[in-house]
Amino acid sequence: MAEKITRAANGTLVVPDEPIIPYLEGDGTGVDIWPATQLVLDAAAAKFGKKIAWKEVLAGEKAFDATGNWLPDETVEAFRDYLIGIKGPLTTPVGGGIRSLNVALRQLLDLYVCLRPVRYFQGVPSPVKRPEDVDMVIFRENTEDIYAGIEYVAGSDESAKFLAFLAESFPEQLAKIRFGTKEQTDGWQDEMAAIGAPRRDLPVEVGIGIKPVTRSGTERLVFAAIQYAIDHGRSSVTLVHKGNIMKFTEGAFRDWGYGVAKGHFGAVDLDGGPWQVIPEGRPGAGIVIKDVIADAFLQQILTRPAEYDVVATLNLNGDYISDALAAEVGGIGIAPGANVNYITGHGIFEATHGTAPKYAGQDKVNPGSLLLSGVLMFEHLGWNDAAKAIVDAMEATISAQIVTYDFARMLDGVEPVKCSEFAQAIVDRL
Ligand code: NAP
Repeated sequence: MAEKITRAANGTLVVPDEPIIPYLEGDGTGVDIWPATQLVLDAAAAKFGKKIAWKEVLAGEKAFDATGNWLPDETVEAFRDYLIGIKGPLTTPVGGGIRSLNVALRQLLDLYVCLRPVRYFQGVPSPVKRPEDVDMVIFRENTEDIYAGIEYVAGSDESAKFLAFLAESFPEQLAKIRFGTKEQTDGWQDEMAAIGAPRRDLPVEVGIGIKPVTRSGTERLVFAAIQYAIDHGRSSVTLVHKGNIMKFTEGAFRDWGYGVAKGHFGAVDLDGGPWQVIPEGRPGAGIVIKDVIADAFLQQILTRPAEYDVVATLNLNGDYISDALAAEVGGIGIAPGANVNYITGHGIFEATHGTAPKYAGQDKVNPGSLLLSGVLMFEHLGWNDAAKAIVDAMEATISAQIVTYDFARMLDGVEPVKCSEFAQAIVDRL
């Protein structure tokens, strides 16, 4: 019987054998990748005595056409009510309305972890020499940082008000904005005019963005990352930050992160610190908690990726890092993602690429990103056997060079298969 997934008093999910799971087909290539994904997920679930009662919900263009609303309340309520859901890519409406439906869903449900595992699948063409060394799980903070959306347009009343506040309360900080006053703007024009440039009379125009990073926001993210490392037998958690420059935001993230390792997991200094290790006798004994500056990290994931395992980082860093890593192992066609709140139990699993409108309806693109997001969802539900069966079958399919156009074009002499044919080939190998 189809039933809701619920949450036990201790916060764990109670998953029936036939859970009701809302899905969003998505815009653009959603019509191609969703049916392919559903085919494989259903076949894998059935193999292990499970079934999913899919419940369609609408957002994006399909919702706008049907209801005049890009993100109907019923959709948000369904994700809230049924706890776990899966979604294809959504068009972000340009000009007016909600800035991004994806960001809106994350914020409305307070999905504070963006989880992005990145690993190599045998046979996938890659631009690096040893892509098999990449096996990382990124925990990207999903609710804070400059993504909070506190921004003021240059020259606006809001920006002027903010500058006036700085002038009044923090004049030394205002002086750090190179062109934050009329005098500084004019002074630069004088310098330019002195070398023959036409002199312009410019107003003060400062675009302002605010980067909030909180202790609670950091703690819940880092806690989830360390707990994941313990639950999945991982060897290290790396805090990636730019704390040498942004000391009180990214630097604080590092310090609060180490605080979680010590305070919640009993970690102790490794070789005098600041690196930490969970000592013998505690869950996760031997897991190292370390940190690295973001720019060095972006070098090292190319030169020695094997040194990194679970990664916890802030919102913007996480955005860059997950795409850079996805490229190392063969691109965004197979990069999965999940947005999770481990306290309320809410999770939305999603393809990380966009709608790729030029390919929509052609049964052409790679369904791997959405399918592997489904695998993540199965793991989250505790359906680990079915999840592993899909991964093994997908790897066997790719190794047999049965691949969609995106991989085929990087492999000599390989003809691409359709999106649906790729899915069927995986089912055949389950
Ligand atoms: P995109 O849809 O991700 O497509 C960019 C390129 O990525 C495609 O042209 C294609 O590369 C490749 N690609 C995307 N999906 C693929 C797949 N399933 N298999 C293989 N290759 C794939 O990015 P975009 O064109 O910048 O954005 C289009 C729309 O999607 C926008 O409205 C944007 O706002 C939205 N978007 C939504 C999400 C989301 O819902 N999570 C995320 C990002 C963007 P080639 O051309 O090289 O073949």
